[in-house]
Amino acid sequence: MIPKVRLPADARPDTLAVRAGLPPSQWGENSEALFLTSSFVHPDAATAARRFANEEEAFVYSRFSNPTVMMMEQRLAAMEGSTGCIATASGMAAITLMVLGLLQAGDHVVCSQSVFGSTIKLFQDFAKFGVQTTFVSQTNVDEWRAAMRPTTKLLFAETPSNPLTEVCDIAALAAIAHAGGAWLAVDNCFCSPALQRPVALGADLVVHSGTKYLDGQGRVIAGALCGPVELIDAKLVPTMRSAGMSLSAFNAWVVLKGLETLSIRLLAQSERALQLAQWLEAQPAVERVYHPSLPSHPQHALAMAQQGGRGGAVVSFVVKGGRAGAFALIDATRICSITANLGDTKTTITHPASTSHGRLSEAQRQAAGIQQGLVRVAVGLEDVEDLKADLERGLAGLATLA
Ligand SMILES: *Cc1c(COP(=O)(O)O)cnc(C)c1O
Repeated sequence: MIPKVRLPADARPDTLAVRAGLPPSQWGENSEALFLTSSFVHPDAATAARRFANEEEAFVYSRFSNPTVMMMEQRLAAMEGSTGCIATASGMAAITLMVLGLLQAGDHVVCSQSVFGSTIKLFQDFAKFGVQTTFVSQTNVDEWRAAMRPTTKLLFAETPSNPLTEVCDIAALAAIAHAGGAWLAVDNCFCSPALQRPVALGADLVVHSGTKYLDGQGRVIAGALCGPVELIDAKLVPTMRSAGMSLSAFNAWVVLKGLETLSIRLLAQSERALQLAQWLEAQPAVERVYHPSLPSHPQHALAMAQQGGRGGAVVSFVVKGGRAGAFALIDATRICSITANLGDTKTTITHPASTSHGRLSEAQRQAAGIQQGLVRVAVGLEDVEDLKADLERGLAGLATLA
């Protein structure tokens, strides 16, 4: 038996973020140990046989079980309010594991058309194995309902979306999924459990790119899938064991320690993002600002109800002057990092039309609302006055443009 740490049953999320997981080893370490070992030793041949036959719970081989990885899984599951979690080598590996483990040829998926670009590509790729996907509007619940087929097994949403922070109604999608005998999976990358807990709203599975806010300091690639422990044990652990998209113990340890500060980081980054968004709305060179905390956001009320009253740390905005204007603004910054990553304590700035959405045709970009003047900022933990000054330099040069 692998013991669990003993916590009061009513321990609150901030306590779980610091304390949930496995108890310390025999040495009594206070900070969680990093078990860098590929395999585990058994006391005798008969015990090894029982462990390989799954008759006795123990650590065997780090492709499918490792104490550091398990600590991260249990802590994240506790924070998401789900009974189980399985860690993966990346966010994309979590989605791959979910599809390999849960679906088969002939199954159908309904997915938002506004999800992460590689997620769209991955679901398109699964068509060659007989799993078809219908892509629907992020915000129009009727389109999701209309796309349901008798073979639909999975609904996949990501909210808020990148880069326009469009919000989908998790509870409404869960009702549609369950009426059709399907699972709802939500990519909770942008909010993390610090702001949004999809399971409490009816989602069955929660997908994470641990690379983003869970690590929170831009150090590792990691992923995880949270869901009912019975489903994970029956369908996903066996797939992990054979397919091997495992998270390394070192990366799990980095994410595990990141979880301890997740909520204070996200609250602080969200607050800075709101201040920046409000300031941007008042700038003459800015045509439009997208952030769920702004009353001008089309799904403001839904976002506030679903995300604990917070907008998250990502702000997008359209500047005057199209692509040239956006490039001039980005190039005038001295603090922001020019990179498409997000979820870091360092503020990042990017031009979606030529980076994350650069492979789309101009018509596809227009349909998705990704204009050439759009800039995305993922706000970190610098002083917000310094961030305003960093953007103001570029905006000053654009204010005179028509
Ligand atoms: C980054 C990201 C992913 C993919 O995660 P990786 O860890 O880079 O594989 C999936 N979904 C969203 C919303 C992301 O931002």
